[in-house]
Amino acid sequence: MRDFAYLRPFGIDEAVQLMSKHQPGARYIAGGTTLFDLMKLGVEAPSTVIDITRIEGLRDIDASARGELRIGALALMSDVAEDPVVLREFPALSESLWKAASQQLRNMATVGGNLLQRTRCAYFRGSPEFACNKRVPGSGCAALGGQNRGHAVLGGSDACVAVYPGDMAVALAAFDAMVDTVSPRGARSLPVRELHRAPGATPHLETVLASDELIVRIRVPRSGVGRASSYHKVRDRESYAFALTSAAVAVHLQGQGHRVTDARIALGGVATRPWRALQAERSLLGKPLTRAAARQAAELAFEGAVPLEHNGFKVALGIETVTDALMLAKERS
Ligand code: SF4
Repeated sequence: MRDFAYLRPFGIDEAVQLMSKHQPGARYIAGGTTLFDLMKLGVEAPSTVIDITRIEGLRDIDASARGELRIGALALMSDVAEDPVVLREFPALSESLWKAASQQLRNMATVGGNLLQRTRCAYFRGSPEFACNKRVPGSGCAALGGQNRGHAVLGGSDACVAVYPGDMAVALAAFDAMVDTVSPRGARSLPVRELHRAPGATPHLETVLASDELIVRIRVPRSGVGRASSYHKVRDRESYAFALTSAAVAVHLQGQGHRVTDARIALGGVATRPWRALQAERSLLGKPLTRAAARQAAELAFEGAVPLEHNGFKVALGIETVTDALMLAKERS
């Protein structure tokens, strides 16, 4: 690991000023569960690390605001997973956090950092001798002709097919959550759905955030649709692993016929970014939520999937995952 300067501001304004002063090459750090890993592997080598964990007020989970749940960027994954409002109104969000990591990691990692975790592609994290456009732009992509069992079937490009590895962002995308950020240019808000970029020709650019931009808060609309929701994750080991396929779904059903008046479907483990399946959602509206209707929607969610040599199984598995998630959400309605 290369030497780096370590700074510890006490307020947001101070953090933003330090970041501005130490660009380029400075990085924010909180739980450190992603950045330190990547620094040890030599993938990241910041000249300055700005530790934001002492900043007051960014750990709160606040349900007092009208119409939305506000989650500070430094809130721990474990605290959000166990929060009573999250458990009651957004069970899929709680489940996405429970299933995302071991208890030790959930007790350290923050939700802001969790949003920005980087791919688990073995070539990206492996030896520099492997071609990887995300690690070294223009060097190629070893996964396209190599081992690609865990890679994306949706949203890939000729330059990169790495899966976005997170769980929580998938649930937040389903709930139309927003992120609030600050930078030397001021504050802004954007939908979680628009935070991550598809790789296109520039896979090293993973989000729309500027390098000096700090996530300070996540806001989740309390529209009511989250109560009948589920996060279903299929992985190689049930104890703890990244998703082969996952689905965050929510439904609102009306009447004895269980007709769908609102549906949300977001996919994880299969796409280069948290993937919202809007066409599949629309296909459910006005229909009774039967298993056949759920499966038809699930198949639509994977329309246009482009399997690679080793990951064709993800399409069939993903369809089952979405179908089961929808049936589970129905049971909770
Ligand atoms: Fe790198 Fe993306 Fe190819 Fe993996 S899939 S080797 S991260 S360019």
